[in-house]
Amino acid sequence: MSEEDIVDPTHPRYESLMIRKKVAEAGAKGMLADSAMIAHGRGEAFDYLLGEQTIPSAMDATKEAAARLVKAKRPVLSLNGNAIALAGQDFLTIASQLGCPIEINIFYRTPERMGALIGHLKMLNAKLGLDVEILGGIPDARIPGLEGPRGACQSEGIFEADTILVPLEDGDRCEALIAMGKEVLVIDLNPLSRSARTGTVGIVDEVTRVTKNLIQLIPKKPAPTKWKNDKALQSALDHIVETMSDKFN
Ligand code: ATP
Repeated sequence: MSEEDIVDPTHPRYESLMIRKKVAEAGAKGMLADSAMIAHGRGEAFDYLLGEQTIPSAMDATKEAAARLVKAKRPVLSLNGNAIALAGQDFLTIASQLGCPIEINIFYRTPERMGALIGHLKMLNAKLGLDVEILGGIPDARIPGLEGPRGACQSEGIFEADTILVPLEDGDRCEALIAMGKEVLVIDLNPLSRSARTGTVGIVDEVTRVTKNLIQLIPKKPAPTKWKNDKALQSALDHIVETMSDKFN
């Protein structure tokens, strides 16, 4: 083990460093593209500004997402490499609570990465004693408007789904899923990202905190509301600005 691998538990940002370590380890196992750490770093920057906590508007959005997932006829969890590396186990628990599949959909698709991600989820499925269906290995349908491997999906998964949970999604794909008439529930620490703004519900919070909250909320079967996404995103931005302006007063 190198010095770089050891995270000091007394470090004030221990949690954040441990989360970063998970991305580094998944990268070493061939589960992630080279750009994964950059996407993670963008998230970390926003989490720093949010105070590395679940703010009230994010908890409201998580509750709304739980309500819509419970109500959905065909929910699907669409996961990329970072989401699987950071919260694969919790996403399997959520899929099992909802009785829905997970579909792996990655930006830079190679057979090696797909194999590593499917293998990782299968290992966690067995460890948890679950039998969640893992889709994405053999795409047979396309998301209209998205060229190349990014548009590939599975008919019994994303293509036919009415409600999709998409953590850390890129804006194009989120827009294309909305254009297909689906409810898209986004997890993204950046309240300004196209995904957060285009999604039906944007949860501005760190993915590992969101999954823990969803696992608590789903069994309570909350009722959906008339969600105003712009208002929730504005509230996240206001939180950042207020925290900043308080700092030196
Ligand atoms: P968009 O295309 O939606 O405008 P983008 O180009 O920044 O956004 P990507 O780089 O594809 O999108 O996705 C990374 C997004 O995921 C970033 O917005 C980042 O804030 C967010 N993110 C990264 N790590 C996490 C995390 N651990 N939890 C939640 N969000 C995260």
